[in-house]
Amino acid sequence: MKARLVSSREIAPNTRHFEFEALEWDCRFVPGQFVSLTQEIGGNSITRAYSIASPPNSSRFALCANLVPEGHFSPFLFGLETGGEIEFRGPYGAFILRRPVSDSLFVATGTGIAPFRSMIHAKLHEHPDQHFTLIFGVPPAWELLAVGLLVALIAALPALHLPVRRATIVSEEANPALPT
Ligand SMILES: Cc1cc2nc3c(=O)[nH]c(=O)nc-3n(C[C@H](O)[C@H](O)[C@H](O)COP(=O)(O)OP(=O)(O)OC[C@H]3O[C@@H](n4cnc5c(N)ncnc54)[C@H](O)[C@@H]3O)c2cc1C
Repeated sequence: MKARLVSSREIAPNTRHFEFEALEWDCRFVPGQFVSLTQEIGGNSITRAYSIASPPNSSRFALCANLVPEGHFSPFLFGLETGGEIEFRGPYGAFILRRPVSDSLFVATGTGIAPFRSMIHAKLHEHPDQHFTLIFGVPPAWELLAVGLLVALIAALPALHLPVRRATIVSEEANPALPT
């Protein structure tokens, strides 16, 4: 199957949010699942998995990826221009919310938030009586962006409980202006 890149934007250093339009797929997946992207690079067919970061409610799906500068695939993904097409398969994976959905604790760092973003956006409104708690660890350089992302999430989903805990504080990289 093919997907066309509709847009992409930087959301943290070396990290981008990608929106794809599925050309031959109805985007039926369960939040938490992933797709496999494949591309011929340097004469080799390279396949890499990426969690779907969006809820299943349109012909589009979103991914959130890190650039691994010396990696085989992610530099290609980051170089893909709007309108560019990519081969993909899926959905795959059983990392999904079990039914009946109960109070849930999501723990993620960095782009590991992608499957939880899909779950939260898809499921929160269906289960207003359940408590969803997200613990999100980010590198120092991501902190301001992470706070912005969480504020946006809270605004969109007021029932979300977000006791933000830092998995990473510290270092000479840390912005001294940030609250501790
Ligand atoms: C189920 C699943 C979901 C995923 N979801 C996401 C996601 O949402 N977002 C995301 O960014 N990533 C995700 N990943 C990771 C993603 O699939 C890729 O692994 C990642 O993008 C790096 O791919 P790459 O080809 O650029 O790097 P690679 O070429 O695979 O290299 C990655 C790193 O490993 C090193 N390396 C490679 N091969 C070796 C070796 N043989 N020995 C030692 N070191 C080696 C490289 O030097 C590099 O530092 C997911 C993976 C899985 C399995």
